[in-house]
Amino acid sequence: MRLQLLTLVVWMAIANFAQQPTSQVARSQDIDHSVEPGQDFYRFANGTWLKTAAPPAGQGSLDFRAMLNERNTQRVRDLIREAATQRSANGAIAQKVGDYYSSFMDQAGIESKGLAPLADSLSQISSIGDKSSLSAYLGTTLGGEIDGLTANSDHIFGIWINQGFDDASHNLPHIWQGGLGLPGRDDYLDASPKKSELRSQYRAHIARVLKFAGVEDAETAAAAVLSLEIGIARAFAPDSDAADTFKQNNPWKRADFDSKAPGLDWNAYFRSAGLSAQENFIVWQPSDIIGVSALVRSASVEVWKNYLRLHLFDHYATILPKEVAAEHFAFDNAVLSAGAGKSDREADAIAATNGALGQAVGQLYTQRYFSKEAKARAQAMVRDLLAAYRGRIPNVTWMSSETKQKALAKLAALQVIVGYPDEWIDYSSLEIARGDAFGNMRRAESFHHSRDLSRLRQPVNPIDWPINPQQAGAVIMFSPNAEFFTAGILQPPYFDPDGDAASNYGSAGAAMAHEISHSFDELGNIYDAQGRLGDWWTADDRAKYHAAASKLVAQFDAYCPFADLCVNGKQVLTENIADLTGLEVAHDAYILSLNNKPDTIIDSLNGEQRFFVAFAQRWRKFQSETALRHQIQTDTHSPGEFRSDTVRNVDAWYDAFKITLTDKLYLKLIDRVRIW
Ligand SMILES: [Zn+2]
Repeated sequence: MRLQLLTLVVWMAIANFAQQPTSQVARSQDIDHSVEPGQDFYRFANGTWLKTAAPPAGQGSLDFRAMLNERNTQRVRDLIREAATQRSANGAIAQKVGDYYSSFMDQAGIESKGLAPLADSLSQISSIGDKSSLSAYLGTTLGGEIDGLTANSDHIFGIWINQGFDDASHNLPHIWQGGLGLPGRDDYLDASPKKSELRSQYRAHIARVLKFAGVEDAETAAAAVLSLEIGIARAFAPDSDAADTFKQNNPWKRADFDSKAPGLDWNAYFRSAGLSAQENFIVWQPSDIIGVSALVRSASVEVWKNYLRLHLFDHYATILPKEVAAEHFAFDNAVLSAGAGKSDREADAIAATNGALGQAVGQLYTQRYFSKEAKARAQAMVRDLLAAYRGRIPNVTWMSSETKQKALAKLAALQVIVGYPDEWIDYSSLEIARGDAFGNMRRAESFHHSRDLSRLRQPVNPIDWPINPQQAGAVIMFSPNAEFFTAGILQPPYFDPDGDAASNYGSAGAAMAHEISHSFDELGNIYDAQGRLGDWWTADDRAKYHAAASKLVAQFDAYCPFADLCVNGKQVLTENIADLTGLEVAHDAYILSLNNKPDTIIDSLNGEQRFFVAFAQRWRKFQSETALRHQIQTDTHSPGEFRSDTVRNVDAWYDAFKITLTDKLYLKLIDRVRIW
């Protein structure tokens, strides 16, 4: 399930830096001087690269995202391997990282222990004798999630600690649905032959796992577990509810669980979950809490016990003996990934290490790849971007003055955090021992659960990082009001901490300003300055906004890369507005950064020219006709070529390249779109 108030963004596609030097973000060597900038700006900026670019064998496209991910994967893999080899002093960050990874990789050691690591949990499950002890055991499973972004609970309920939808000053436990072995509700409820077949494959998987657990007549037991999960799926909220954030805002008092959702022994449940003193909750899907609680009463304890055995094995499968791990992989791969995946122990070990010790790996990463100076340079750019927004909002024509005040207040409260956390997670109380893969994972889960629960007693901290800094990405948190841009993404060719400012502002600056704009557009307009839920636009603002945007719809409707296929301006409108806003704000910010001094000439391009070339180069993408057609038909983002043509709306671009009335890309003043 995706959390609606939190959006993970990975910037699209720009440059083939793997083949070329990266000292400069706007790369003059990629320009095709045989193309006039006013005729085709995308091919002017990228033509030389486009003529030589070729996607790797077996891939239909070549873009920067894939390459940046590949580079970062390599870096992280090398750092973790080094930590494993160097064997640092006990307690050091590198010791924990290295030993977590080595233990995961030590399959012989895992094999020799057999199922012994599960013995305690299996005997706890066996000793469940009534609804109360069942409820108490279920409580121990709350909080297995390590990463707040991948909020896909593999337990009956998941928990996420975040501020309330209405209360920005207190952290609350957000409780959401979970506990299904198949990915979605429809996998259980859809009567089609395809889904029926999926369910029989799942039932066979359940039976094989229950055999590992020593359950007699595993086939009959598996059928009963599947029926129980079908019951859980019936209680799930329909997928369409997830799009409406207001539907997730259901504040429940502790007593509401007893009165609204009878069945579970909630005292026993919350006591073992570490939440017995908690008075207030947010329940995302009340139907699930009610339905599952009723199933605790109606379904047999023996069926529940087999359900718990199944999910215990599946949860820890990767660090159990080969036979169990292979069954888990075979089911996931054959049934859920249609045979597309391949088993990669090392990739799994690295993902697990990043999951358990994300900010420990992040420290190793930033020590090597993202200096304090780089962070300071990125922070300076953020300050200019925010100043540029402050300058623009008072002049927005479609917003009432009252709404402008709210937008300015939201801007003033917005935290834009770059690079890495000022204060890292303190892992000193987390013991990681070489040769104990299972114990390491258990202790890491319990460490994160305790850390999460401790946040219930602390004030809201909007700068609590929701993403690992080594990951190439950005996160918009609407609640609280904060955005994060990682060290992993702030690197060439988006951003060069030692490079040319004009290019940095045209590329990373425009990208960051794009994301910031979402906090104020039709995505962010339901969260206020403190990240509380509530629409802060008026109906009149909305009507005028759509009127101003209609010209942009028409502009993009006219882009027809194929005789039979044009861009759908409405489908891509929200992202096009963000592109335009991002470009204009980044340009203002670039001017601010110059501080009234003239910019230099580099490779015969002046600063203005490098700014716009960097912007257009960010959108370069080599893709097949099939891929391009698919993007036009389905994506909310326009093809890169037309995103690059956003420059047509910006007066400074006309001056920078001396664009005139006779140029193909020329737009009359009245046709240039202004929204922000
Ligand atoms: Zn966007």
